[in-house]
Order: sequence, then C-alpha cells, then structure tokens
Amino acid sequence: MNTIDEGEMGVRNGFFTQKELDRVMAESDIGDVWERLRGARVKEKADGLSRVPCILRGHRNETDRDMVLNHRHNLFYCFHCHQGGNVIDLVKTVNGSSWVNAVYWLGAKRGNMA
Ligand SMILES: [Zn+2]
Repeated sequence: MNTIDEGEMGVRNGFFTQKELDRVMAESDIGDVWERLRGARVKEKADGLSRVPCILRGHRNETDRDMVLNHRHNLFYCFHCHQGGNVIDLVKTVNGSSWVNAVYWLGAKRGNMA
C-alpha cells in the first residue's frame, strides 16, 4: 500500500495542507476509527494490541477476531484478508472511498489556507 504518493497528491492538488494531513493522522486513533466504522466498542483497548472482528469488505466471518489493531503504531492488519495499513487505509478500504475522501471522513478541513 503506497499512501505517500496519494497523500502528496492530495496536498499538491490543494484538497488540504500537509499540516492539516499531519493533524488528522495524529488525532485519529485506530481504535476510535474502528469503533466509528463498526458501530461497536473495542474491548481491551489498551496500550498494545487488540483482536477485533474484521470490517474489511469481502471478509466472510465477522465474528472471528482476525483483525489486529496496533494502538502504539496506529496500524491494523487482518490475518484472513492479509490487508493492513494506517487509519486512512482502513477508512478507504471499509468505505470503498478515495484516499482524499477518507482523509475528509477523518475530519480534515478543506483548503490550502493554513
Ligand atoms: Zn479481514
């Protein structure tokens, strides 16, 4: 997954500033994002790893806890789908949205004014 090029494109095209992108990434916790997407709470949301049901599109059995949330590094990985990434990748994959729209979904403000 290469999000750096897409991120640079979003910034370069004026969708948002690098500063705004950095803020959104810093303030978006992988556990909070999973909860918002799933509409359920993350159990054992400690400073470490959480095993949760996978919410990626196409994942068959939603009751198995195949997905790991790494709270320290703000990353996810599914051992069944073999997909992983950061908070933006999770939103993008679950919602089936563009990278830029995933950044907006996480709360980025538009414009190149900052
Ligand atoms: Zn999965």
